[in-house]
Amino acid sequence: MKIQIEDKEFECMLEYDQIKKRIRLIGIQMNVDYEEKVPVFVGVLNGSFIFMADLIKEIDISAEITFIKVSSYEGDASSGLVKKVIGLDYDLKNRDVIIVEDIVDTGATMGFLLEEIYKHKPASVRICTLLLKPDALQHEIPELTYTAFEIPNDFVVGYGLDYNGLGRNLKDIYRAIHVPSET
Ligand code: 5GP
Repeated sequence: MKIQIEDKEFECMLEYDQIKKRIRLIGIQMNVDYEEKVPVFVGVLNGSFIFMADLIKEIDISAEITFIKVSSYEGDASSGLVKKVIGLDYDLKNRDVIIVEDIVDTGATMGFLLEEIYKHKPASVRICTLLLKPDALQHEIPELTYTAFEIPNDFVVGYGLDYNGLGRNLKDIYRAIHVPSET
């Protein structure tokens, strides 16, 4: 099914059923990896709110949840300029941190975020991302442990991800259709 958001047309790429199944597997893995621990899930707003909600329901060990916000991105092209982290007031000292992100594109946002989080002297840091664009990745991120889906360099919306503020409420994930130029 195709949908239109402002000037862009999108087609379905990942259905909710598929997403849920994958998240279930990640949850099972985390329950094993963090057995005997009490990790802090740090969701990166706004994009991760739906992913976090579904992921945390698959976690049956003790866990805490908090959210932060990184302002860095406008429209449909990554600026590479990360401005600041808001809300990192949770005590992460000696804690096992799991950063929950909607998408890792160039990795610039995550690089900056990791630097900020390490200042709090956590015991460990791992990243769980819903989507990863391996071809766009410009930074090594050894903390990247859990990836739900690797996708091509398409612009995607839905399941928490937006286009100019719209589309976060879509249940499935959609990719922008590239219209071939007429010249
Ligand atoms: P990076 O710093 O890794 O290049 O970009 C990460 C951020 O860019 C993500 O947190 C997300 O906000 C935004 N982003 C990157 N690719 C996409 C995309 O395809 N769709 C949407 N909606 N946001 C994206």
